[in-house]
Amino acid sequence: MHIPADLQGETINVKWQARFGDPTGRKMVQDSKPPVRVRTSPIEGRGLVATRDIAKGERIIEYTGEKVTKAEAERRYERQEAAGRIYLFDLNSRYDVDGAKNGSIARYANHSCDPNTETEIARGHIWLVARKSIKAGDEVVYDYNFPLDGFEDRPCRCGTAKCRGYIVGASSAGALKRVLNQRERERKAKRTSGSKASRTAKRGKGAKRPKTARKSSAKRTKRKRARS
Ligand SMILES: [Zn+2]
Repeated sequence: MHIPADLQGETINVKWQARFGDPTGRKMVQDSKPPVRVRTSPIEGRGLVATRDIAKGERIIEYTGEKVTKAEAERRYERQEAAGRIYLFDLNSRYDVDGAKNGSIARYANHSCDPNTETEIARGHIWLVARKSIKAGDEVVYDYNFPLDGFEDRPCRCGTAKCRGYIVGASSAGALKRVLNQRERERKAKRTSGSKASRTAKRGKGAKRPKTARKSSAKRTKRKRARS
C-alpha cells in the first residue's frame, strides 16, 4: 500500500485495531450502519442525531467525500460560502475532503463550542469520535476549529453555556476574547468622547460613505479542521 509522504509516520489507532482488526475502520462502517441520522437541528438547518446510545471513544462515522487539492478546494470554497454552508474538511497540507461530493451524512454535523464528539484523522481518513457518552436522540456535534479570521460572519447558535458567540475553534478562544474586549473598550471610549462626529454625519454633508466590505484574506484556512 502506498502511503503519501505527508502521512508516513502517522500513528494508527492501536485500540481500534485490537478491537476490529482493521485500522482504517472502513470495513466496519461499510458493514454496519452508523448510529446517526439527519434531522432538523435547533442549532442550524440540518444536523446529526444519535439513533442509539454511543460510548465514549466510539468512532461514529467517517467524514467522507471527494479528495481535492487545496487549489480546487479554494474554488469550491467560494461557492459553498455563498450558499451558506462549508463542507470542506482540511485533510492535510495538500488535500481537503469535500463532503458535498458523494460525502457521508457526517457533513451535516453542526459545530458546537461544547461538543460531544471530536474529529480524528487516521491514515487519511477523517472520523467523528465520541468524546463523551452520547444518549440516543442527542445531537452529534463537534468543534469546526475555524480560525479567528472573519469570525463576525459566523455567529454561533450552539446554545451551550460555553458558547463563544462565534464559530471559532477552542484554540482561538483566547484570541477571540481579546478582540471582543478590545472592541468593547473602543465602543465605550467613543460613546464617552462626545458625539460631534455623529452629529456631522447626521447632517449629511461631509459624511463618509461606508467602506465596501473587506474581503477576508484568511479564507484559505477557513475549513473544518481536526483539533491537533
Ligand atoms: Zn457556540
